[in-house]
Parts: sequence; structure tokens; C-alpha cells
Amino acid sequence: SLCYLNGRYQPLDEARVSPMDRGFLFGDGAYEVIPVYSRHPFRLEEHVARLESTLASIRLPNPHRPDEWAAIIREVIDRNVWEDQSVYLQVSRGADDKRNHAFPKVVRPTVFLMSEQLITPPDYQREEGVACVSAADFRWLRCDLKTVALLANCLLRQHAIDQGCVETVLFRDGFLTEGSSSNIFMVKDGVVLTPPKSHLMLPGITYDVVLELAVSHGLKHEVREILEDEVRHADELWMTSSTKEVLPITRLDDKAVGNGRPGPLGQQMYAWYQDFKNTVMRS
Ligand code: PMP
Repeated sequence: SLCYLNGRYQPLDEARVSPMDRGFLFGDGAYEVIPVYSRHPFRLEEHVARLESTLASIRLPNPHRPDEWAAIIREVIDRNVWEDQSVYLQVSRGADDKRNHAFPKVVRPTVFLMSEQLITPPDYQREEGVACVSAADFRWLRCDLKTVALLANCLLRQHAIDQGCVETVLFRDGFLTEGSSSNIFMVKDGVVLTPPKSHLMLPGITYDVVLELAVSHGLKHEVREILEDEVRHADELWMTSSTKEVLPITRLDDKAVGNGRPGPLGQQMYAWYQDFKNTVMRS
């Protein structure tokens, strides 16, 4: 596939960065994953705004204005073959001549984009739901930043894979935070619940879309802190992300969620999400 590295479009297998790059040595960088449907990037402005916010928080000057980012992203999409894509974008604090925790005096950021075919969950996962495990959230206290330092998230994801599951649902101090690479929603007695944005979770673009859809369709919902015990007695549990969209969780730690089948509100939300995607793509 075709990628972008520091101003050049080139085959992915020919792209090279320095081993001194701080993205490699320290995980010092920010990233985004943007879903593309029928060659239209979904919620592009929101992804570019979240990148801007992560870069500002890690004190890495944004190398591009929003219109420049949009142009590079569109070019990467155009140069790849798939109609539906997942565009990965990363900005690191570049290379220095010595390994030094302190920032380089002159920062030349490494800007990298690549694209893959977008693979959304297969039909059997939507129809049956997926099994998840839980774990203590041992990540740092800036989970609101989308940085490339993802070792904790990788360990937490592998914890699920090792048990034949797809995702790990995280609890910190007795409260639900999110998944290793997704946000979590639950339903109890017809009310959709999800935790409020804070430094303990990533502000998901899909999370925002789901809440907007709940508002526009008049679905009862509450954004508030959720106890672990409430999650364990939920009627429905969903995970949301740009690539998973809205996916029902039907088992947690080997116990059925609700009646063990995908619930009606999750299925409704998934349908609204698909409609919303399609109307945005046509406009
Ligand atoms: N939380 C974490 C930790 C994530 O990595 C992701 C996916 N990047 C999400 C939530 C979901 O975010 P989005 O809806 O923007 O894909």
C-alpha cells in the first residue's frame, strides 16, 4: 500500500525512519485512526481537532493546519485501492543525535500516514455479540491523550486474546473507564449509560456520535460515573470505536450479559449509526 512520510508518498515497504526517532525510543508522539467509507473520511474535522488537542497537551507543535491535514489524508485515500479504509496518522517528536529524555533543541517531527482496508466486525460478531474480560486499569492518568505509548493497552488487549475474548473492559477504583481500544456503554432498565469524559478515558469520536444519536432520537441516556457492580448487572453492554462501530458485548468474565443475546437498544443504535454514516456520505 501507499503511505506518506515527511512530505513523500511512497510504498509502505520502502518507507524508513531513524532508530533515533523518539516515537521509537520513547513512544513520544500522537496518533489518530480515521475510518473512510466509500472514500469519504468520517468525522474528519473531529479527528483533526483531537490530534491538535493531543499535540498541544504533549507540547509538540502541530506541523500542519487543519486544511493541510485534510489534503494529506485525502491524498493517502486517493492513492490506495480500497473504497473503505482505515487511515493511520502519527506525528512523533522526531530524531535527535543522542538518546535524551529532554526534548531536542530543534524538533523536526516525523509525520507518517498509512492506510489499510477497513475491516468492521464480521456478521457473526454482530449477531451473537462478543465475549470480553475485565481487568484493573493500570494505565497512566492521561488516558485522554491519543499518544503512541500504548504498551499498557497492548498488554490489556492481549489479556483478552489469551482468554479467547476480543476486548478487556477496564475498571479503576471500582468505576468503569473504557476498553483497551474502545469506549463502553451499558443499558439498564431502558436507559443508556456511559462514563463522562475525563483524564481517565479517551474522548472517542464514536462515543460522541452515539451520544448525539441518543439525543436526536430521544433515547433515554445518562452520562455519569458507573460502578463496576452496575456493569456486572447491565441489561446490555456495547463497545464503540471507529473500526468496531457499535458492537454488543454478550459475555463478561464468562458470565452472560443480560439474557446473553445482543439487546434491542444496541441493535437500534447500530442501525442509527449506519443510517447516519450513509446520510453524511451522501451529503
Ligand atoms: N478508547 C481507546 C483507549 C481507544 O484506543 C479508542 C480507539 N482509538 C477508543 C476509545 C475509541 O475511540 P474512537 O471512537 O475515536 O475510535
